[in-house]
Amino acid sequence: MFTPYHRAWLARIGANTVAQHQLPENIAAVLAPVPHELRSSVPSLSSLGFEQTNLQTLGMHGGESAGQALLNDFVVRMDRYGEARDYPSLKGPSYLGVHLRFGTVSIRHLVNLALERVRAGSQGASVWLAELAWRDFYFQILANFPRVAHHAFKPEYDHIQWESGEHAEALYVAWCEGRTGYPIVDAAMAQLNQTGYMHNRLRMVAGSFLVKHLGLDWRWGERYFATHLNDFDLSANNGGWQWVASSGCDAQPYFRIFNPVTQSERFDAQGKFIRRYIPQLAGLSDKAIHAPWAAKPMELLAAGVELGVNYPAPVVDHAQARERTLARYGFLKKSGDQAGTAAEQ
Ligand SMILES: Cc1cc2nc3c(=O)[nH]c(=O)nc-3n(C[C@H](O)[C@H](O)[C@H](O)COP(=O)(O)OP(=O)(O)OC[C@H]3O[C@@H](n4cnc5c(N)ncnc54)[C@H](O)[C@@H]3O)c2cc1C
Repeated sequence: MFTPYHRAWLARIGANTVAQHQLPENIAAVLAPVPHELRSSVPSLSSLGFEQTNLQTLGMHGGESAGQALLNDFVVRMDRYGEARDYPSLKGPSYLGVHLRFGTVSIRHLVNLALERVRAGSQGASVWLAELAWRDFYFQILANFPRVAHHAFKPEYDHIQWESGEHAEALYVAWCEGRTGYPIVDAAMAQLNQTGYMHNRLRMVAGSFLVKHLGLDWRWGERYFATHLNDFDLSANNGGWQWVASSGCDAQPYFRIFNPVTQSERFDAQGKFIRRYIPQLAGLSDKAIHAPWAAKPMELLAAGVELGVNYPAPVVDHAQARERTLARYGFLKKSGDQAGTAAEQ
């Protein structure tokens, strides 16, 4: 469980700062020598099979200096992380995931910076520090239980009967392309497809939608994220997907099913994030934008929204999908795995 792990993690760090490994002055001296035949002809990226990316267009830069620039930008926001991190239209998180994933920022340096703010009484820093601990938590899950890369952490969850066949494939494509008819899910997928990043709250919402609304195997979503996230990391991605599917270590219980409309109203109340990624819905009111199918025909007309024409009708009904999921996972309750009454978040 994460809570005792986190407690032990903090105790291990204790009151001290974490030791950092300094790079030697002359780094070239400790690197393996480049073989003579490679010196004159360094292969081009395209000859190695890499394709042109849009990272430059997005203003994303690699390397240590780019990581440091993002860190400088975040340090002054760290104290507000706790309040801001859940709202996708706000600049709440650090966006350092990609640098952590490629090692262009030092995790020990980040921990020390956060600890410094925690000691000064910053709530935001302590929430952020816990996120860094989650990263380690999932590392150690993967290291100690490598089977999670292909199987549910809780083996009984591998007996769940997922949707299959043409209908399931079509639902999957609609999810990937952001055409589910649920604006918050579609905006999240548009963010991923256009930028290679998805806000953490939306990873949970879009992930949960794939598993608990569309009834699709979490591994399908895991694979899609692995291909599209710039910060893709096997342990965190697998941990995140097993969390939404409820099959993971310390995951949410299976009967807790995110309501995408409620999540949207709560975390994107004014629809700012939705409007950014789904401009054809921009003319809807702050209320209607979360569930266009429930809007009055006059409002849809005035906003230029034609369901099924320039924005899809919902691919599933929330209440029915929820019932199907409770039935799909229901055998776990009978097998005594998770007691509890159906609850909705
Ligand atoms: C379905 C799903 C898939 C995910 N896939 C990945 C992935 O492939 N790679 C990845 O790094 N994170 C993944 N996460 C965790 C989290 O969403 C991202 O780490 C975070 O959104 C990255 O943005 P940030 O750097 O601005 O994070 P911040 O909020 O600033 O957090 C700082 C750092 O803490 C770590 N962190 C934060 N939350 C988590 C978490 N829940 N689990 C593990 N580490 C965390 C990350 O290294 C992150 O960069 C996933 C979460 C879910 C629900």
